[in-house]
Amino acid sequence: MVSVEGRKPPRLFGTNGIRGFPNQDLSAEFCVKVGKSIATYCKGSTIAMGRDTRSTGDFVFSSVLAGLLSIGSNVLDLGVLPTPAVQYYCKTKKIFGVVITASHNPPEFNGIKSVDSDGTELDRSEEEKIEEIFQKENFKPVVWNSIGRVRGLNDAMNHYVDGILSRVDVDNIRRKEFRVLVDVGNGASYQSTPFLLESLNCKVVSLNANPDGKFTSRNSEPKPANLTDLISLMKTGNFSLGIAHDGDADRAVFIDEKGEFIDGDKTLTLVVENVVGRNDKVVTPVSSSDAIEEICRKKGAELIRTKVGAPIVSRTMIQEKAKIGGEENGGVIFGEHQYCRDGAMTVALVLNLMAKTGMPISSLIAKLPAYTIVKKEAHLRMDWGKLLSALSNRREVDKADFTDGIKILREDGWILIRPSGTEPIVRIYGHSRSPEIAEKYSGEFVSIVAEIQGHT
Ligand code: MG
Repeated sequence: MVSVEGRKPPRLFGTNGIRGFPNQDLSAEFCVKVGKSIATYCKGSTIAMGRDTRSTGDFVFSSVLAGLLSIGSNVLDLGVLPTPAVQYYCKTKKIFGVVITASHNPPEFNGIKSVDSDGTELDRSEEEKIEEIFQKENFKPVVWNSIGRVRGLNDAMNHYVDGILSRVDVDNIRRKEFRVLVDVGNGASYQSTPFLLESLNCKVVSLNANPDGKFTSRNSEPKPANLTDLISLMKTGNFSLGIAHDGDADRAVFIDEKGEFIDGDKTLTLVVENVVGRNDKVVTPVSSSDAIEEICRKKGAELIRTKVGAPIVSRTMIQEKAKIGGEENGGVIFGEHQYCRDGAMTVALVLNLMAKTGMPISSLIAKLPAYTIVKKEAHLRMDWGKLLSALSNRREVDKADFTDGIKILREDGWILIRPSGTEPIVRIYGHSRSPEIAEKYSGEFVSIVAEIQGHT
């Protein structure tokens, strides 16, 4: 597997499920074994399966499916859908799920993600049970007349969109007739997000909505460098809002009506400000902007900081009965709807707010506390534990928080350094009210990390 988790030995499930290269890491035999392990863990109960648009999806899907059926699980094939649509199906029908997706990774990757019967990603302790079944090949195959069957379902998208519509003021949004440009990046939301927007009476123009399976139009990670077409069309097209999803559409990022990219943490802060009240709880990782902290203080809400990773945020939200949570990369989790990141739900919440206030998205963002996060990265060339301890001992590090990686706290900002969950790199974030300081801090620690790794 390509997953890297600090000093821990390689494991089956990384931060976001299993990721790898089909016919290499994800061989047919491997996928069958994963399917057998999941179905054995689920005691042969019914499992919903969905997938993103990747061209290797047929191969990985079929292989995992064979494993599930061999243990006696019946499978509901939901087809190509955003990951949160599969999760919503699992939550409302109270069944386990499997999603074949590698989210925003390049097209040569694919992945397998297991979903609990409450719609959330499985807890680490539950994943370990599946890993143990996998390692020991402790499968429970059934006799021929108990082998599972497959049933195709075509109403899961309607079910998902109806769920989202029930959480916003549909009539109010419909009256505004927003003009919206949506770049689905050849991904799993190519039908569902335009359908949601049409249901909200938006005038929709879709970009890169051909599900070619190879992400030929743009890289699947929705960051400004990959969204140049969307951004330039927003500058000329007289749209109220630009939207971009990652490959499996659990995330949404936005472009304002002037063509300016909106950082994910600003969207999260905006949504938090508009849904929380006194004593509500908000959950976000250590990597998110202090603007959320400021908003929570103003609203009398409690902010809980966690390690990075959507499943951790989701689980903490459930434990703490939190109203809302999310990450700075465009993943918003709205607890009333479901405890997982949901790109289309985020879209509906933003449109709801635009309709309620009558304000353009740029003005709503301009009212928020202004902070800057500068994101850089470096190759991880040594053991993460050794790098962490070398960093902790540097004279540049005075106060630090170790919730996840190392967060170096300074008077006018912070620097977060942590290993990626999916690639052999370290992420280095600089954060401050001042863009110059955020840039300086991140650059300073890119040099320090290079210096430490150069001396090994
Ligand atoms: Mg994703």
